[in-house]
Amino acid sequence: FTGPLERIGCCCHRIPKSYKAGMRVDGHIYANDKLLEAIRKDQAPDQVANVAMLPGIQVASIAMPDIHWGYGFCIGGVCATDPEEGGVISPGGVGYDINCGVRFIKTNLYLDDVKHHMKELVKALFYTVPSGAGRTGRYKFDATETRRLMGEGPRFVIDRGLGVARDLDHTEANGRIDDADPHQVSDHAVKRGAEQCGTLGSGNHFLEVQVVDSVFDADVAKVFGLELNQICVMIHSGSRGLGYQVCDDSLAAFRNCPTKYGFELPDRQLACAPVDSPEGRKYIAAMRAAANYGFCNRQLLMQQAREVFAGVFGRSWEDLGMEQLYDVAHNIAKLEEHTVDGKKKKVWVHRKGATRAFPAGHPEVPEKYRAVGQPVIIPGDMGRASWVLVGAPGAMEKTFGTTCHGAGRAMSRTAALKDGAGRRIDRELEHKGVIAMASSRNGLAEEQPKAYKNVDDVVDVVHEADLSRRVARMRPLGVIKG
Ligand code: 5GP
Ligand code: MN
Ligand code: MN
Repeated sequence: FTGPLERIGCCCHRIPKSYKAGMRVDGHIYANDKLLEAIRKDQAPDQVANVAMLPGIQVASIAMPDIHWGYGFCIGGVCATDPEEGGVISPGGVGYDINCGVRFIKTNLYLDDVKHHMKELVKALFYTVPSGAGRTGRYKFDATETRRLMGEGPRFVIDRGLGVARDLDHTEANGRIDDADPHQVSDHAVKRGAEQCGTLGSGNHFLEVQVVDSVFDADVAKVFGLELNQICVMIHSGSRGLGYQVCDDSLAAFRNCPTKYGFELPDRQLACAPVDSPEGRKYIAAMRAAANYGFCNRQLLMQQAREVFAGVFGRSWEDLGMEQLYDVAHNIAKLEEHTVDGKKKKVWVHRKGATRAFPAGHPEVPEKYRAVGQPVIIPGDMGRASWVLVGAPGAMEKTFGTTCHGAGRAMSRTAALKDGAGRRIDRELEHKGVIAMASSRNGLAEEQPKAYKNVDDVVDVVHEADLSRRVARMRPLGVIKG
């Protein structure tokens, strides 16, 4: 990217709307100098400029420091549209993996309790939790049950003994996005989802055992129940084939929308429809249903992890203190109230590879955390670190209540694969104290630590920009990958 990136504030850079004809607002990219250098090597900033052309976009087309190239919209992108100004909804602004997200589970185990059991633990997780592309799981639902599950969210499986009600209190939207309509989800999508709930999926998705290796904010860590050397589990997965199919179905339905509703798009992958059009409404209802499926998927993944821990340590998961800190989506669009130019309004916030980060006092932050802010779960990579942050006031002022979602890729999958050729990534990781098991060796190469930016750099930026603040840093001990 050779276009203009003008510094505004400590760690934000502006692409002025004069950069390209058709931009309705500026682009804002959050980054420091080090990350900016990497970002410039990618076409993602051009995607930020393209998104600025969407009808009804508010304030700016925003990108987080973990930005990298994606389908139409960059990963790490945030865009809010106002339905009253012809605002659109765009499936590409949510992503193929609707409600991809992260769930974080605490334990009352410490490093010394697990360090001699890591191989056994990772093996047990790997052989219990289904992973890999297209894998089906042990929970089978028929079409009617799958649609009910999409309407109810994790409550549906919790009512069947797969979790406890308090898990819902610590899930974004209590695991149930309102106004989901499972009947807007195609039979084909339902079929793909029916046997995949409770499976990890491929590549970037993972289940990781981590240890808290630094605490940055003792007060917030106390509220979150986190302390030094504590063992935790991080789960990253989404809505599997079901969400993918919902996205695909909608892209087909949206193809003629620009002509039909009279707007122009710089890139076909930015397909969108007015929020209040039949196409827009149908996608929104189906996307919400797929999001509820995603929460269920992570609920079932957590439940399997709880069972494995119970087996390996010979105590019940309750006894092991395996309580959910939080579950948060990072591929979703939601109707939220925000203040724009001093006026409160409801806007459609698209977060694609970006995490909600509501600050203290926000009514949607669970009561237990309301005095400090929403827990924000940030995976990094399987060799270095991951983070727990807390939502900060700056996010409401600058980014529609949003922060980053990870480290973000530094290398394309192809480049990482080439780089890993002939190497045994699992042995390299073991050398560094991380036990890794994956269903494909290529997968490990694509996902090797250096394929990602350093998550500590990304976290520096969102902390400095007051989008979310550092609470605790974790280092990986064991990981299973798709
Ligand atoms: P995405 O949702 O964009 O595919 O991935 C989110 C983030 O997860 C990535 O940007 C990366 O930082 C992080 N990530 C990917 N693989 C792993 C892993 O195996 N372990 C950890 N801790 N983080 C990972
Ligand atoms: Mn995903
Ligand atoms: Mn994801």
